[in-house]
Amino acid sequence: MPPKPRTWKSKDSAQEAHEAIRPTNLEERTAGEEDDQKKLYALIWNRAVACQLAEAQFSVNTLRLEAQQGSQTFVFRSTGRTLTAPGWKSLTPEDTAEEADDASDSQGEDNGKVPSLPLGMTLHSTSTRLLNRQTKPPNGYTQASLIKRLEKEGIGRPSTYPSILKNILVRGYLAEGKKTLTATDLGKLLIDSLTGKFRFVEYDYTRELEQELDNIASGKAAYLTVVSAVDQQLQTELGQLHIAPQFLPAAPRVSGGATSASAPEGAIPCPKCKAGHLRRPTGKDFYGCDQYRAGCTFSVNVTIAKKKLADKQIETLCRKGATGFIQGFINKQGKPFGAILLCSEATGWRTKFEFADKPPEPKSYF
Ligand SMILES: [Zn+2]
Repeated sequence: MPPKPRTWKSKDSAQEAHEAIRPTNLEERTAGEEDDQKKLYALIWNRAVACQLAEAQFSVNTLRLEAQQGSQTFVFRSTGRTLTAPGWKSLTPEDTAEEADDASDSQGEDNGKVPSLPLGMTLHSTSTRLLNRQTKPPNGYTQASLIKRLEKEGIGRPSTYPSILKNILVRGYLAEGKKTLTATDLGKLLIDSLTGKFRFVEYDYTRELEQELDNIASGKAAYLTVVSAVDQQLQTELGQLHIAPQFLPAAPRVSGGATSASAPEGAIPCPKCKAGHLRRPTGKDFYGCDQYRAGCTFSVNVTIAKKKLADKQIETLCRKGATGFIQGFINKQGKPFGAILLCSEATGWRTKFEFADKPPEPKSYF
């Protein structure tokens, strides 16, 4: 044990107290009923205890040999280290293997033992071999090293790492071999087709967005500001995907409502861009403007405060900017209430409630 308990400063992005299990009594060496639970507890116990153990100590030996041939001097250098006091490594031997990988990257230091020789002694070579060494390509990512890399890039959070990995594996973008993950053809194709077209495949963009989301969580940023900027970026990029986006000029207004020849009969004209019409995508709970590719983001939800609006009510809302008095909304406390819905330029094209003590005269809104 070290003289003082060890403490660590947590990273800025750490989301703390997300542990599923924390040993409260270190005397309890096993816990859990099923094998997996026991293994998980053992893993956590090991980490919890290991982080408080003494440092591991090594004896490091560097051997330097000099050979002379004519006027030339050749120097051979080798460093080896042996573990003299295991410290925390006695509990987590698997970390040793990982560290050996790192160490092999740093030049010249291998973990082989190097004999201890008196200074200045003369050695005679008994044989000479020429070794043909080649540098190895970097190791592929394992699930663990990929998470490490994500952490380093500031992408993802402890709560999202498992779902990131699950998604890329389940969707077949990566295949898991015996040890490492390899990109599938589908994964490569996906990256090739997204790169340069969508900013969300860029590390910087994702890192900054994650930071913004953290800021929302800590109350330093407003949800709508962040999310609407992301939405705008995405809509712009989606719009540019089409080689020749159809920027339809605002169709001349015809009395009676219908403005575009291609619009389905009775389609509600988009109140915001006036060029598009509202469509309800199959299975969705909203009407959106069909000119979203030209940049119109207008949409209106079908269900508002648990009340499913009739098509007629949505049409009135979009055509007139306000509905009549509607009963049957349910507030967050579960209480029913009535209100008028407003949606116009004045509300920033968002649906808002207008409360009144009693239903106003319909004609004041029509
Ligand atoms: Zn529109």
